[in-house]
Amino acid sequence: MKITFLGTGTSTGVPAIGCDCPTCRSTDPRDKRFRSSVLLSFAGRNVLIDTTPDLRLQALNNNIKRLDAILFTHSHADHVFGLDDIRRFCLLQNAAIPCYAGQRCAADIRRVFDYALIENVHLQKSFCPLIDLHEVDQPFELFGRRVQPIPLIHAGEPILGYRVGEFAYCTDCSEIPADSSALLGDLDVLVLGALRTKPHPAHLSISQAIQVAKRLSARHTFFIHFGHSVRHEDISRELPDGISLSYDGLCIETNRKD
Ligand SMILES: [Zn+2]
Ligand SMILES: [Zn+2]
Ligand SMILES: [Zn+2]
Repeated sequence: MKITFLGTGTSTGVPAIGCDCPTCRSTDPRDKRFRSSVLLSFAGRNVLIDTTPDLRLQALNNNIKRLDAILFTHSHADHVFGLDDIRRFCLLQNAAIPCYAGQRCAADIRRVFDYALIENVHLQKSFCPLIDLHEVDQPFELFGRRVQPIPLIHAGEPILGYRVGEFAYCTDCSEIPADSSALLGDLDVLVLGALRTKPHPAHLSISQAIQVAKRLSARHTFFIHFGHSVRHEDISRELPDGISLSYDGLCIETNRKD
């Protein structure tokens, strides 16, 4: 399975509007971050995790020409507000896109994007996205692979991570419950949210994320969802073996067949 990091930034994106800090002014391309999202490619299919407000440019920059399904982690604006832009894929493929979300996130999508639900749209229109929304809390099958929803805690609220084979994606968490940690053993690649060096009530800090990564001991852990206090070169230097900061455009393959 191929994993493309479409965005690795926190909710503001980096650079942040109106900021002249060293990261926002950095010329290192790894300090330019769209909002966090990955594309999983396997069996000739493209599966997107989250639809960020940067989705259009993420699709253009990475030459994404088809989209077969979307997994949603939670309904914060930086993870869903690009959903309308999937209408290009609906038009090109002449089909609705299957979307998977936990109960709260699905309820928010139904409320905000009611005009796009397949049950509310009877004729395909070029100006309208089409989504076939499924609420999930148990493992399900997607294009021949098992997708395991992973319950996580984000600012005291339940959200989802996802495991597909030996790959797992856990962004925006402040806590991974013990039952969920048990679902994250024997991973080839773990993608984990880590906001900044200072603690934050809704997100793991870099040092907390290092502890989690060591405990879960994936072969390799990539951090995402960092803010402008994180200069890639400075923080990368301090990370233990087996843990890296990701960056926009990075492509990796999971080693084992999954
Ligand atoms: Zn976020
Ligand atoms: Zn800044
Ligand atoms: Zn969030």
